[in-house]
Amino acid sequence: MFKKLKEECGIFGIYTKEEKEDLVGTVCVGLTALQHRGEESCGIAINEDRNIYFHKDVGLVTDVFTKHVQETLPQGKMAIGHVRYSTTGTSRKENAQPMVVKHKKGYLAVVHNGNLTNAEELKRQLEDEGAIFTTTSDTEVICHIIVRERLKTGSIEEAVKNTMKIIKGAYSLLIMSPQKLMAVRDPQGFRPLCIGHTEKDIVFASESCALDTTGATFDRDIEPGEMVIITNNEMKSEKILPDEKKGLCVFEYIYFARPDSTIDGLNVHIFRENAGRCLAKQAPVDADIVAGVPDSGIDAALGYSKQSKIPYDVVFIKSKYIGRTFIQNTQTKRKRLVALKLNPLKQTVKDKKIVLIDDSIVRGTTLTKIITSLKDAGAKEVHVRIAAPPFIDVCYFGTDIDKKENLIANNKTVEEIREIIGADSLEFLSLDSLEEITKDSHIPEFCKGCFTSKYPIEVPDSIDKNRFE
Ligand code: SF4
Repeated sequence: MFKKLKEECGIFGIYTKEEKEDLVGTVCVGLTALQHRGEESCGIAINEDRNIYFHKDVGLVTDVFTKHVQETLPQGKMAIGHVRYSTTGTSRKENAQPMVVKHKKGYLAVVHNGNLTNAEELKRQLEDEGAIFTTTSDTEVICHIIVRERLKTGSIEEAVKNTMKIIKGAYSLLIMSPQKLMAVRDPQGFRPLCIGHTEKDIVFASESCALDTTGATFDRDIEPGEMVIITNNEMKSEKILPDEKKGLCVFEYIYFARPDSTIDGLNVHIFRENAGRCLAKQAPVDADIVAGVPDSGIDAALGYSKQSKIPYDVVFIKSKYIGRTFIQNTQTKRKRLVALKLNPLKQTVKDKKIVLIDDSIVRGTTLTKIITSLKDAGAKEVHVRIAAPPFIDVCYFGTDIDKKENLIANNKTVEEIREIIGADSLEFLSLDSLEEITKDSHIPEFCKGCFTSKYPIEVPDSIDKNRFE
């Protein structure tokens, strides 16, 4: 029920020039702003006097970091935090991040957004060398490699640099050692990572909305292949890996990121609104109202409405109190959940021809239920417009899409999908329109692999979320 794409993870880090009384509280605020990127588990590691303390658990930030927990944690000079949805490894407390390890030369805490494409191969090599793994997450592979390289080199940044040359795939990382805070982004820049500041703090976050929320001013995005290091109140930056084909995940704009975030020069709300405008030009329809499926269809619906001059209206009331997706095991319970989560506004939809905008179709089951509920509420026609091209393939870089054979657009024509979901007409955003909308970004190329089966880098033969199990 309500099977949507899962966000990958959100990361947040802070380095403060003077010890801060509310360091943990600030990280909690930053992580709450990133909660949409992962609702399964969360954690914070704090560096106080070169010792690393941490707390992590399964649950939302507000559930895990209660007032009591916040009060018991030390307040240091730097901290990193994480919200998680598992794309590699299962949803267990052990897999929650930050990963904190003690090694021969000190401590290390790591938070990771993304998915390595060579994790399996690296894990096998490490195990052959005697490494023992306690989690099923690819982030533990990163920790092992950093530690192994640290034992061969003179500093943690040399070790991280070497690690960046070994690991492949998607990684936006924050790494905290006893004296340093480091931020790195893979050479394709698959996942976002930005940096900002306040008078006394330097702040890193997956999305700029977390900088806004913590009172930091956005400075810039971390460049693909770049490492930023902060130590002794000094910040320096180094381009570690040469320029390669870029690959920021275009789905960050379509679905994952918050509309108030700007990633690599392109605001998410503007992107979605433009997607709606393009859809209105590409697939006009004679209708009475335009509506969006909450939440990520709303910005595109506004764009469609502005372009087509068909009034925008609200057709669903969404329950604010169902945060997490959960499985209901009987048809009656499933029906109840639909009504609870998205209840149609009968007064608005009755006898209306509706253009309904959604961000994507995975299996089509959710949209089928949504259209049925609109028709049951009296809608005359429901014309569906999808603000993304059809999903035809899987993601290797941290998005839990579904198995290829489960993707409705992989084995059905648009007309067949329309019939299955019960819409009066159906159109997807074209790849050309997607190209047009992304042209104002700082990034010259995006990853669109799940829409084209062409990925920016070599991909493994198979993808299995729980392949480490
Ligand atoms: S394959 Fe799709 S979801 Fe994965 S990174 Fe590329 S665009 Fe994003």
